[in-house]
Amino acid sequence: MAKQSKLRLQCCICGNTVPDDGLIFGPTGNGVCFNCVDLLHKYVEEELKDNTEENVQPATETALPKPQEIKAYLDQYVIGQDDAKRYLSVAVYNHYKRLNQPKDDVEIEKSNIIIVGSTGTGKTLLARTIAKQLSVPFTIVDATVLTEAGYVGEDVESILTRLLQECDYNVKQAERGIVFIDEIDKIARKSDNPSITRDVSGEGVQQALLKLLEGSVVNVLPKGGRKHPEVPMVPVNTQNILFICGGAFDGIEKKIAQRLNTQVVGFEAAGSRQKIDKQNLLQYIAPQDLKAFGLIPEIVGRLPILTYLKPLSRDALRQILTEPKNAIIKQYKKLLEMDGKTLIFEDDVLEYIVDKAIEYKLGARGLRSLTEIIMMEVMYDAPASKEDTITITRDYAKERIEAADMLKIQNSL
Ligand code: ADP
Repeated sequence: MAKQSKLRLQCCICGNTVPDDGLIFGPTGNGVCFNCVDLLHKYVEEELKDNTEENVQPATETALPKPQEIKAYLDQYVIGQDDAKRYLSVAVYNHYKRLNQPKDDVEIEKSNIIIVGSTGTGKTLLARTIAKQLSVPFTIVDATVLTEAGYVGEDVESILTRLLQECDYNVKQAERGIVFIDEIDKIARKSDNPSITRDVSGEGVQQALLKLLEGSVVNVLPKGGRKHPEVPMVPVNTQNILFICGGAFDGIEKKIAQRLNTQVVGFEAAGSRQKIDKQNLLQYIAPQDLKAFGLIPEIVGRLPILTYLKPLSRDALRQILTEPKNAIIKQYKKLLEMDGKTLIFEDDVLEYIVDKAIEYKLGARGLRSLTEIIMMEVMYDAPASKEDTITITRDYAKERIEAADMLKIQNSL
């Protein structure tokens, strides 16, 4: 390699013009800027590292937790939602077992998951907790920001950029990761009948997502941003990436009811009337309801594991405050313990927080905000206080909450 002198020249990879001493020249005379050299160097290094035996760490059958172990782990962090936990535990177990399967054996198909349930009932928490247990890269994307290639917004490929970022651009690790796509219901077709009202944006994004869900090699810009013919792309195979989609699917109960009604008429005719729990129709959800809601059949087909989350009851909210391993109340106690203080919440404070969460329709997310409001001043004063024990009473909690701007809190959730 020889360096040339004092000129501004173009890098043959990224196209940027830089002083000639900022380029490295190959035998053909083409220069590559230091940035691109750096990027290529990292990429090659990662590839070499990834391909060495010790770095390819398939979750072997012994290392892979069994469905019951996955469920037991979820139980530590997520209150209730037993049906969903079971479905997820089996689906995730099978997914990772499939990755260890010998090549020439029966081919087990990939089983992506879709979880239907109101916002704040634990969809993201479930997905995140599973990824934590399995120590695989995990990323959350909001389907509402995704657009078809070429439109303002994020291309679906950006999902993979984020996954790569989560594991320091280790492609092999990213290819075994979990992606949680939130608000998948927001890209539903607005009309059930595509020939009458074609909702291009929603359907276009669904089509683009399809490619990722079914498993293909996608060229990804390692740093995101705009595609450019000269910026090196990283090929990522989505075949073994587990996609978990979540959505509230507001109003889907109507579609379920319609379907069940027609079925019940059929059953009645056959003389076997089924009893339907009208309070919780979500438990009867079936793939055709997702289609009726506006997901294209191909997407529904690529999300074969369908499960639902129940709305959180008062009891569940009360448990969420104190029982999960990282419950908000436990966290505050721990923080003050580090200052040598004992923090006590009187029982009716916890009831009060739950009451307010219900009254203002804040759901589980609101529990944290309400507790934060109550604890703000305490956390400010306690470290310097002479008291060893700090007791939060209902009156104190009420005073703090009543002074707060609930509208602002509602809007921030
Ligand atoms: P979703 O994805 O369904 O909108 P999240 O999983 O983001 O809801 O839940 C928001 C927050 O509420 C979580 O971070 C967690 O603190 C709490 N939460 C919700 N549901 C549960 C649950 N079933 N068990 C424990 N905590 C929960």
